[in-house]
Amino acid sequence: MSVAAVIVAAGSGTRYGDPDKVFALLGGRTVLARSIELFQNMPECDEIVVVLGEHSLARGQQLIACHGDIRLTTCVGGASRSDSVRAGLAALRGAASFVAVHDAARPLATPELVRRVLESARVHGAAVPSLPVGDTVQEVDAEGALCAVLARERLRVVQTPQVARRDWLLQALAGSSSATDEGTALYLAGFPVRHVAGAQDNIKLTWASDLPLAEALLAARTAS
Ligand code: C5P
Repeated sequence: MSVAAVIVAAGSGTRYGDPDKVFALLGGRTVLARSIELFQNMPECDEIVVVLGEHSLARGQQLIACHGDIRLTTCVGGASRSDSVRAGLAALRGAASFVAVHDAARPLATPELVRRVLESARVHGAAVPSLPVGDTVQEVDAEGALCAVLARERLRVVQTPQVARRDWLLQALAGSSSATDEGTALYLAGFPVRHVAGAQDNIKLTWASDLPLAEALLAARTAS
């Protein structure tokens, strides 16, 4: 199974309050370096494209040069996450038949998690990691009135890395899909997508308060 990784790191970090959140230090190393090293340490990964923003291109390329890995390349992303994934797919040079798309902002994903998703994608064509929902989730209308009740048992919070056949991903993202994850784009394009167990500590750095949480999770991991 030949696999390429597309690491999307081109976000503007508006909610986090810093466009360069992927360069924040976590346990002494940058968030982006941790996400890159996840795939660098996997021999089954043939190629790694890091999708950077205009604002982070120089810094990102500098970091990548330090890694000295010929499997690593960069490209510039777009206005939305799906634009950035499309740019990453277009930048792939090799012939990998599967692509793992990962949020650079999830620096705590582990090789075990990636392999779990890869294995399911190999069998089913596309797979995403997810967690059951602990809280009750409700849909509200524009006025804030409850308008839809969702069955909690069947809800999942979706993470990355998400893995799919390259040809499926290219088709699913060929149009103007603005889906915020590949699983949604694939599902809307009619492809089957399997869920596998995600990891509680595979958090995404979305808000500034997520960084100390990630530090604590990393420290707990190191201590155990
Ligand atoms: O915005 P959000 O936190 O959901 O972004 C998830 C990942 O997608 C982040 O790693 C971010 O850098 C990336 N992204 C991107 N291009 C965008 C928006 C987000 O590469 N235009």
